Amino acid sequence: FSTWSTLEAAPPDPILGLNEVFKKDPNPKKVLLGMGVYRDNENKPYILNCIRKAEQIIIDRKMDHEYAGIQGIDSFIANALKLAYGADSQLLKDGRVAGAQSISGTGSIRLGFDFLSQFYPNKQAEVLVPNPTWPVHRTIPGKVGMKAVQYRYYDPKTRGLDFQGLQEDLDKAKNDSIVLFHVCAHNPTGVDPTPAQWKDILEVVKRKNHFVCFDSAYQGFASGDLQKDAYSLNLFTSEYDRIMLFQSFAKNFGIYGQRAGCLSLVTGSKKETEVVMSRVKELARAFYSNPPIHGARLVDIVLSDPALTNEWHSELKVMSGRMATMRTGLVENLKARGSQHSWRHITDQIGMFAYTGLTKEMVDELRAKYSIYMSGEGRISICGLNTHNLEYISDAFHAVTK
Ligand code: PLP
Repeated sequence: FSTWSTLEAAPPDPILGLNEVFKKDPNPKKVLLGMGVYRDNENKPYILNCIRKAEQIIIDRKMDHEYAGIQGIDSFIANALKLAYGADSQLLKDGRVAGAQSISGTGSIRLGFDFLSQFYPNKQAEVLVPNPTWPVHRTIPGKVGMKAVQYRYYDPKTRGLDFQGLQEDLDKAKNDSIVLFHVCAHNPTGVDPTPAQWKDILEVVKRKNHFVCFDSAYQGFASGDLQKDAYSLNLFTSEYDRIMLFQSFAKNFGIYGQRAGCLSLVTGSKKETEVVMSRVKELARAFYSNPPIHGARLVDIVLSDPALTNEWHSELKVMSGRMATMRTGLVENLKARGSQHSWRHITDQIGMFAYTGLTKEMVDELRAKYSIYMSGEGRISICGLNTHNLEYISDAFHAVTK
C-alpha cells in the first residue's frame, strides 16, 4: 500500500477539460468559445503596448528582484485603490482602506475569505453568492470552513436579471450575512444590475446589515470606461462601509499569468486600518510570505505615468470595443440567416461572456457537428469570436436553434 492508494481523484476542471478535448479535434474549422482570456481578431493573445513599454522600463531602470513587503509594493497598492475607489475618494483620504497586494483575483479572494473566516464577528454568517457565479466563489468559502449558499440572480426565461428573486433572497437571509457581488461584467452570465437596481440592492443590504464582498475582475475591460465599470462599488462605498474588495488585473492589463491583484477592506478609522493590515499581513506571511513583484510593477509603472495611463485607456477601448462589435455581429448574422429567436440578450449582456440560452443538447450538437466548443450551460467567451469565424459560428448557431 502506498500512502495515497485510497485517495480518490478530484473531479476535472470543466473549462480546462474542454481545452484538452478541443486540442485533439482535427477539424480545421474548430472554434473554442470556452476560455476566459482575451484574443485579438486573429485569435492571438493581445499584449498591451503600455505593458510592453513598462517591461522596457523595468529593464532600463535595472530594477532588482528583492522581496516586496508582506503587503506587496506600496505604490502599486495606492494606485490600485485609487483606480477602484476613485482618485477623490474620501475613504482613501481618511486612511480608511486597508489594502494588500495579493496573487491576482483568486489569491485576493482566498486571502479575504481567510480573513473573514477568522475575524468576521458573526461566526455563523453564511456567504451568499449569485446563482450562477464563477465557481471559485463557492469553493473558496468552503476551503476556509465557511458555508456558501446561492441567491437568485439569473432568470433563464428573460435571459436577464431575476431582480425580484435577488432582493427577496438577500432580504430572507439572516442579518449580518456576507454577500458577494460582481462589480461589473458578471461571469458567467454577462448580466449586470442597472444603476437604479444597484440602488435598490444597496437599500436591502443596508437594512439587513450584510457585509459586502465585491469582486472586480473586469474594470475598464467591460465597457472601456473605468468609472462606469466601478459604478456599483463607488455607489456602495459612498453610503456604506461594510465592504471588502478583490481586484484582479489579469484581464484589464492582459497579464493573466503575472498574478497581480489587490485585496482591500474599508475600515472605521486610520487606526483600525492599521490593525486590519497587521492581521492581513499575518495571514499572507503564512500563505506566500510576500506576493510576486513583476506583474504588480507593470501595473504600477503604467498607472504612475500619465502618458502610459492614457495609452492603457485607449487599449481598454480597443478590447472592449472588439467584444461589443462581436456581440452585435453575431446577432446581425443570426437575423440575416432568418433566425426567429430574439438574440437581444447577447447585446444586452456585457463583458467577456455571454449566456446564449443554448440548451445542453444544442451545445452537444455544436460540438459534434461543427467542432464549436463551449461549456455545457451555453456560456460563450465573446473573445473566441472574430471576423474570420463569425459566419461559420452564426450558420451553426442558426442550424441548431431552428
Ligand atoms: N473573478 C471573476 C469573476 C473572474 O471571472 C476571474 C477570472 O476569470 C477572477 C475573479 C480571477 O482571476 P485571476 O485569479 O486570474 O485574477
